[in-house]
Amino acid sequence: MSPKKHINIITLGCSKNLVDSEKIMGQLNNGQFTLSHDADGPADIVILNTCGFINDAKEESIDSILHYAKAKKEGLVEEVVVTGCLSQRYKEVLAEEIPEADAWFGVEEPSDLFGYLNQKYQPENEARFLTTPSHFAYLKIAEGCDRTCSFCAIPLIRGAYRSRTIQSLVVEAKHLAAKGVKELLLIAQDLSYYGYDLEKRSMLAELVDELSLIDGIQWIRLHYAYPKSFPDALIKLMAENPKVCRYLDIPLQHINDTLLKSMRRNADKASTLVLLDKIRKQVPDVALRTTFLVGYPGETRQQFEELFNFVRETRFERLGVFTYSPEEGTKAYELDEDIDDKTKQERADELMELQQSISHELNQQKVGKTMSVLIDREEEDHFVGRTEYDSPEVDNEVLVEKNGAIRVGEFYHVEIVDATDFELYGRVQ
Ligand code: SF4
Repeated sequence: MSPKKHINIITLGCSKNLVDSEKIMGQLNNGQFTLSHDADGPADIVILNTCGFINDAKEESIDSILHYAKAKKEGLVEEVVVTGCLSQRYKEVLAEEIPEADAWFGVEEPSDLFGYLNQKYQPENEARFLTTPSHFAYLKIAEGCDRTCSFCAIPLIRGAYRSRTIQSLVVEAKHLAAKGVKELLLIAQDLSYYGYDLEKRSMLAELVDELSLIDGIQWIRLHYAYPKSFPDALIKLMAENPKVCRYLDIPLQHINDTLLKSMRRNADKASTLVLLDKIRKQVPDVALRTTFLVGYPGETRQQFEELFNFVRETRFERLGVFTYSPEEGTKAYELDEDIDDKTKQERADELMELQQSISHELNQQKVGKTMSVLIDREEEDHFVGRTEYDSPEVDNEVLVEKNGAIRVGEFYHVEIVDATDFELYGRVQ
């Protein structure tokens, strides 16, 4: 009998792509292959699940394809297969430029990818091969996006918004809980729109409420809420339901009204301030995470400073910045791009420097407090965990003093004894 082929899946880009990889692996986990995710070293078949969001992400994906094309030439890999957003957008051009790759598939053609591997694609099969530590998992509640943000190519790549039903998500979440998942991270291109395509109303609070009833699930975390139509019922739920993390990732992109209008964000400064005020009044200790886009065509120094001052005054607990990159097919692509790369990067750096000092101050206020911490992993000198105010990969971590009783995947009361800009230090009580 010939040995099983080893497939290594490599995920580039965001957690939504990670879920897609986990679902591909879930269906390939049928005894015909051995599987790994992001592992170094030789594989028979490498599947690259690429990202096509902005320039930096595209470059990272292309570098990765080139790396494995070279590995194939050197005989370390037999086949290189490319899927995901970048491949969806540019497969014809890329296939010509990188002939070493064996096959290119878009996000709309999972059956073609499975056909290439001589497997039958089962659209109803929700099996997941978890690549995260077994105590947390992402739950993708919808695909696609119906917004028309001028700078974003995602709706062109991923299509219109399609909510999954509450029932199917509860079934998936129960499976995850049965495998030991305690924290669910809800993701979609836009959480706030959940339900509108199904029943012309927001169903997000209903979904979160149902998920919180599942035994074993102890934290539910919300990522990628669009400010317009964010449901009030969810703010109430966050304040009252202890399983809903007092954490909200709400990308705002900018605060200047002229730019927000050009970005087609359906929100202005006044409505944003009202929303943030409402959330913070009802959930006083909420950790707000946001993302801003700098260097958008026409962004003046004055408009950037308005954003800078807004960040200084609002004091977001978590913040990310990305620089504008023109994407073919988007509305903003038609605008004259008048901000040079150096200026874009300087503005991004200025904002992140400001955020660093805000984060430092906020972290210092935690010293002396006792917080509930979920332990993610063990390192040589300490355990690493998170509070409900922190998401994996992107937010602060708590470095916990070693003691023999600590287990990965368990919650502990941890006294915070020290803090730096983006880290807390503590010991179990
Ligand atoms: S909400 Fe806007 S930025 Fe987010 S995926 Fe949709 S179009 Fe893109």
